[in-house]
Amino acid sequence: MQLDAKIPGGPLTEKWDKYRFDMKLVSPANKKKLDIIVIGTGLAGASASATLAELGYNIKSFCLQDSPRRAHSIAAQGGINAAKNYSNDGDSIWRLFYDTIKGGDFRSREANVYRLAQISNNIIDHCVAQGVPFARDYGGLLANRSFGGAQVSRTFYSRGQTGQQLLLGAYGGLMRQVADGKIKMFPRREILDFVLVNNKARGIVVRNLITGKIENHAADAIVLGTGGYINTFFLSTNAMASNVTAAFRAYEKGACFANPCFTQIHPTCIPVHGAHQSKLTLMSESLRNDGRVWVPKTPGDKRSLNQIPESERDYYLENRYPAFGNLVPRDVASRNAKMQCDMGKGVGKTGLAVCLDFDDAIKRDGKDVIRKKYGNLFQMYAKITGDNPYESPMMIYPAAHYAMGGLWVDYNLMSTIPGLFVIGEANFSDHGANRLGASALMQGLGDGYFILPYTIGGYLAGTSMQKVTADDPEFKDAAKKSELRINSLLSIKGKRTVNDFHKELGSILWEHCGMSRNNEKLLRAQNLIRELREEFWKNVIVPGSGKEFNQSLERAGRVADFLKFGELIVIDALARKESCGSHFNEAYQTEENEAKRNDKDFCHVAAWEFAGDNKEPVLNKEPLAFENVELSQRSYK
Ligand SMILES: Cc1cc2nc3c(=O)[nH]c(=O)nc-3n(C[C@H](O)[C@H](O)[C@H](O)COP(=O)(O)OP(=O)(O)OC[C@H]3O[C@@H](n4cnc5c(N)ncnc54)[C@H](O)[C@@H]3O)c2cc1C
Repeated sequence: MQLDAKIPGGPLTEKWDKYRFDMKLVSPANKKKLDIIVIGTGLAGASASATLAELGYNIKSFCLQDSPRRAHSIAAQGGINAAKNYSNDGDSIWRLFYDTIKGGDFRSREANVYRLAQISNNIIDHCVAQGVPFARDYGGLLANRSFGGAQVSRTFYSRGQTGQQLLLGAYGGLMRQVADGKIKMFPRREILDFVLVNNKARGIVVRNLITGKIENHAADAIVLGTGGYINTFFLSTNAMASNVTAAFRAYEKGACFANPCFTQIHPTCIPVHGAHQSKLTLMSESLRNDGRVWVPKTPGDKRSLNQIPESERDYYLENRYPAFGNLVPRDVASRNAKMQCDMGKGVGKTGLAVCLDFDDAIKRDGKDVIRKKYGNLFQMYAKITGDNPYESPMMIYPAAHYAMGGLWVDYNLMSTIPGLFVIGEANFSDHGANRLGASALMQGLGDGYFILPYTIGGYLAGTSMQKVTADDPEFKDAAKKSELRINSLLSIKGKRTVNDFHKELGSILWEHCGMSRNNEKLLRAQNLIRELREEFWKNVIVPGSGKEFNQSLERAGRVADFLKFGELIVIDALARKESCGSHFNEAYQTEENEAKRNDKDFCHVAAWEFAGDNKEPVLNKEPLAFENVELSQRSYK
């Protein structure tokens, strides 16, 4: 397949403005005649639906939950980046662009990242206009704090609930259009398949999760904002319902999947504490503004944490990375935590934890100041662990968190299936091999509010479209195939639960394709996943029927896709014979154990093309050209 990223020519700073001017427009009268399906009501999907409906298109909006407000985005904690430079500490659009490119270890597109930095400021203005209650400083300006990989404070926040407040803003915009009749809401629906007519995305098949009924919907274009795939790892910080099903179905229909092995492991999560856990909890990166990370200097030190004197603590991030200290990017912080624990310096019962200590900050600023900044996070930590973080250090460990990989999209956010646009965490987006904290919300809202509304218009204005309806044979065929798949899952009647399979897949990936990878482990993982998948289709038990509310069936469908997709993660990791960002292959490291890129052979996006069941996928490469920044070894020292 020939990938064309459609990056406009001209100087970097002018590309987006010029492109928007050159794009064909759909007249207001014609917008009213066009139907768009938007799947997902997280920050990406809700912002896109609201904006497209406001423009005049007819929108059908789908989500898994009972309310659009319950999308996983509601969980985002720490903040959203923008280059406003309110702190007057040297920030600029160019600096946000550069930090993001470098943070992603030079594996993202310059043009996309620059555009994102440009529109970051519009996002903040838009959200403020909606009434999002961002924190403010003493003078009334919006306050900022720092996140990893940046030496300026550019993160806007609403305590530790930024995602919730932003989503309520987008939800308000969405519901206003529902009330106006421009958006029709379809909650509790799961996408099962896409319908292509003349090679263009023209419809979807969904299952009503309450009644089990299969429904078909037709449109002129489809937008996928279904979030990330990190639940492939079973234990993660993501909402339980987050899945790869929609993206994987699109992949099977011809959309390339880009960089699936770029999986972010977040350094500060509450450690695993038992075999019966199904979820891990994030402790926001914002905590590293004030919390200091340390381990005991002596391996095997089992004293209680408060008894370990200052002179016997190793503040390893501050010592190793004096320029960025505790605010190094996530991949660097996670790998270092693992290295300390591998050396036997981990704390807690399992030895798989490091300390995040607020003692100095509390002595300096007082408990009340710290409570105001992080109160809800401290409360969450205390509730889950039974420990009081105001009195003794938090214990934290890395956990699977975010997907930098996703469906490949061009500059228009269109996948390799014409008419199928992908936004938010579901696309492979702008974060390269490692996402900087507070950049996902920026990207999801940038896609939904400010990029897609233009580019989808360009597509619709420039494409001739035949009329299709949900009763056409292509739709009936797709619905029949979905029903067959459901029936085959129900008919296995084996002995192992869906959860059991998912758990095993997660531990294979965590052990063999987690923070540190090597070729031997990756090959083993590929075999183990294949065997597990084979067993799944012979031995899974899915009780109940397809004609009712059946959560086991929902999960079975998602885990069946995770079992296929898990292998794609490993295949991609095997093919990328370098280390970059989150993808750390032990064979490629510097003398100081940092990721060592191979720009000569791997400065590209790996876009995988489906070749058929049980066939090796085809690797397509989109070369990455860096004309405005110099490729360098990433350093945070
Ligand atoms: C605990 C936590 C804290 C975070 N904090 C921050 C932060 O402070 N700053 C930051 O920038 N980022 C943060 N992130 C990342 C950020 O929250 C996500 O990347 C972002 O919210 C994803 O938004 P989205 O709209 O792409 O997808 P989601 O919010 O995941 O929404 C997906 C939507 O798609 C629907 N959907 C999914 N699958 C299907 C299907 N098969 N059929 C039909 N519908 C489907 C869902 O119902 C939902 O409506 C955090 C992530 C976590 C886990």
